[in-house]
Order: sequence, then structure tokens, then C-alpha cells
Amino acid sequence: MGQTVFIPRELDANELRVAASPDTVKRLAGLGFDVIVESGAGMASRIPDEEFAKAGAAIGKAGDVAKADVVLKVRRPDEAELKAYRPGSAVIAILDPYGNDAAVDALARAGVTAFSMEFMPRITRAQSMDVLSSQANLAGYQAVIDAAAEYDRALPMMMTAAGTVPAAKAFVMGVGVAGLQAIATARRLGAVVTATDVRPAAKEQVASLGAKFLAVEDEEFKAAETAGGYAKEMSREYQAKQAALTAEHIAKQDIVITTALIPGRAAPKLVSAAMVASMKPGSVIVDLAVERGGNVEGAVPGQVVTTANGVKIVGHLNVPGRVAASASLLYARNLFAFLETLVDKTAKTLAINRDDELVKATMLTDGGQVVHPAFAGKPVVMIASAEPAKPAAAKNPALPKKAAASRKAAAPKSPANKSKGIA
Ligand code: NAD
Repeated sequence: MGQTVFIPRELDANELRVAASPDTVKRLAGLGFDVIVESGAGMASRIPDEEFAKAGAAIGKAGDVAKADVVLKVRRPDEAELKAYRPGSAVIAILDPYGNDAAVDALARAGVTAFSMEFMPRITRAQSMDVLSSQANLAGYQAVIDAAAEYDRALPMMMTAAGTVPAAKAFVMGVGVAGLQAIATARRLGAVVTATDVRPAAKEQVASLGAKFLAVEDEEFKAAETAGGYAKEMSREYQAKQAALTAEHIAKQDIVITTALIPGRAAPKLVSAAMVASMKPGSVIVDLAVERGGNVEGAVPGQVVTTANGVKIVGHLNVPGRVAASASLLYARNLFAFLETLVDKTAKTLAINRDDELVKATMLTDGGQVVHPAFAGKPVVMIASAEPAKPAAAKNPALPKKAAASRKAAAPKSPANKSKGIA
């Protein structure tokens, strides 16, 4: 018998995604794993148990997690779930560790080797494992679909015998993975699209999608992109210039989609209450950054708010989960691509190379310790049932002897600034 991969049903009522697909079950079996999928795990993503069974999985129950060498999940398992996990098992999920110290400690106490997929480096080798991209891409698409559903006019220009329907004007603020997909989707639906970002690289990408770029292109703009390709937090002066430029533009828009994020900070406020008040009744704003503090004043997480002047502000949570059937297929492939790198293909067993840069970047807990440099540094009290584990330093000589900083110092201060992942 080979080693076992278990895929549980997600317990969060808002989580419709699942961490495996029939395709990845087949691939996991090909790697030599026995695969158990909890009954009903795929239902909300339109994958019935029979599909998993046809692909070679055994259909099991939640308690089967105790047999697992590897657990594939969407969200972080909570303390109650972890009680059944086997110490030493690998858990691969979007762990959302920032600001969640107690939950991180619980993973360590359970003795699991937990990998946080949202920390995957954005390097060529890991492109197929990039859950932020696969999920943000779908979120960008869904943001436009949500906007169109709330908008009570047509998006494309229609010239008919009964008259002309004008094209909707859509403005996308923040042009990373989600923003680019939002531009492409809004264009396909016939909207006239403009977009803004603080990174100069975005200008060409916006133009290549047939949209018009609008930004304050001063010296600060020219230096706004970090080496990692992310945006820096802009100065107050820049933000004021940006607000002045966009205020007039937003007043003329029918749809505004905001996606702006800055790693390690709360989402920048880009749309003020005054800008919202300047929009026409029936206009729609979708704030994709709402889970990280929001780009739009008045956006409420999990709600569609209608303002006094009839503007709808959409603040849906877990937007990729709104297209769960598609999101699960991509997420499952991301997880499989990573797990494949943790397997010795000759011995057909898990063989985690703790010196591998992907492992170093994503491993959050190991051997009873919190080992990620951004979170390590605080003693973890072991629970009695967990097997005693070697100290992390012995297992992972590549890790800095002293944690880079205490977790408090490393974790961003804003409560809005959770892990960057759209989860
Ligand atoms: P993100 O989710 O961190 O942010 C979304 C966008 O918001 C970014 O484009 C950012 O510049 C923008 N933004 C931040 N502050 C703003 C402000 N004040 N006003 C307007 N816009 C603001 O970004 P992301 O989608 O993760 O993409 C970040 C970068 O990573 C991009 O350059 C992207 O092309 C790159 N990327 C690389 C890979 C890879 O190499 N494998 C994969 C995905 C993305």
C-alpha cells in the first residue's frame, strides 16, 4: 500500500471550492498515492463522489484524515479538525497566517508539516503552483459578471431600429492579475474600459487589452514597482494627485472595479464617499479588496450596499468561490503541481527537501514548530497526543538560527492586512 492523500470537505459554509479534481486524483494515483476523498467534498464545485471514484479515489469520511500522509485543503484546518490529523502529515492549503497566531500555533501543536500556498514564490518554476494568480484571475472575471448582474442597463452598445443603447463605461483600478482579467472581460461584454495603476509596467498591459490607461505619471510612479513586481505604498502627495485625477473620471463611469493591493499593508483607499456620491444612480462599484480593508469607502464585506444616490457597492467575500467549479479545477492543479515536487518518484513516497526554495518559502510549521521566518520565534506548547518532534532547526538547517523577527514585528499591523491570498 502506498502513502495516502486525503481531501476533506471544507467546513466553512462560505467555501464552495475543493482541493482536488478527478484529473488531479488520477495524477495523484499515478504518483503512487492512495487517494481518499471525503464524501460530498466536491458537491459544491459540481464534482459528485462518483466522478472522484471513477478517477480512482476511495470515498471516505472525515475521520479518514487520521490515515493521511498528505491532506489537501482550501482553507486552514481549525483546532478541532486538527485533533484528528496525524502528527508528521503534510497539510497543503491557503493557510492565511497573518494576524492568526493562535491558528498557526495550533498547526504546530498538531505536529503537521503545513504549507501556505499563498507564499509560493512567483518564479517561472512555480508558475503552475501560483494559487494567487489562478484564483485572482477568476476573481477579476467574476467581478465583472457581478457588476453586470447588479447593473440594470446593457453593457454593449446596441444600435437597433428602436434606438441606440450606449456602451457602459467601466473603470478598473489596480491592474494586477485580477484587474487585467476584469479589463478583458468587460471589453468582451462591450464596455468602454479605462484602467489605472501605480506601476508603469501596467500601462502597456492595459493598452494591449484595448483599454485606455489613466494615471499620475510622475517620478514616484516611475519607481512604484518593487523588485518582486508589486506596488509600493504611495506617498500622501501622490495619493492626493491620484484622487484629483480619478475623481472627475469616476463621476462619468457606470461601473468601477477596484482590485488594488499592496503586500504587507492595508488596501489603499482609492474611492472616497464623495466620489461615490458623484456617480449616477444605477452605477455599480465592485470592491475586490474588501477582505483586506477595501479600496472603496462604504464597502461592507459580504454585502451589496445601495447608497442614498442609488449607487451599488458590491463587497462579496471569497469571489473565486463564486465560480467554484472553475476555481477548484485550477486550485487542484496548483496543489498537485506543488505536491509532485515533494515526492520521490522512484520510491513513490513523500520526500520533502527542506532545502528546496519552494519548500523554504511555503513551509509554515514542521516538527511541532512554527518554522517560517516571518512567524517563528515564539515557543509552542505541544499537545499531549502529538508525537514528540525534532526541533525545527535540526530538521531544517537552512532556516535562520534566530527567527528573522518576532511574529509580532513581522506580521503586518493592520487587521485588514491578512495574507494576500484571495481565500
Ligand atoms: P496585487 O494583487 O498585489 O495588487 C493588484 C494591483 O493593485 C497591482 O497591479 C498593484 O500595482 C495595484 N495597486 C496597488 N496600489 C495601488 C494604488 N494606490 N492605485 C492603483 N493601483 C494600485 O497584484 P498581483 O495581481 O499579485 O500582481 C502583482 C505583480 O505580480 C504584477 O506585476 C504581475 O504581473 C506579477 N505577477 C507575476 C507572476 C509570475 O511571474 N509568476 C504571476 C502573477 C503576477
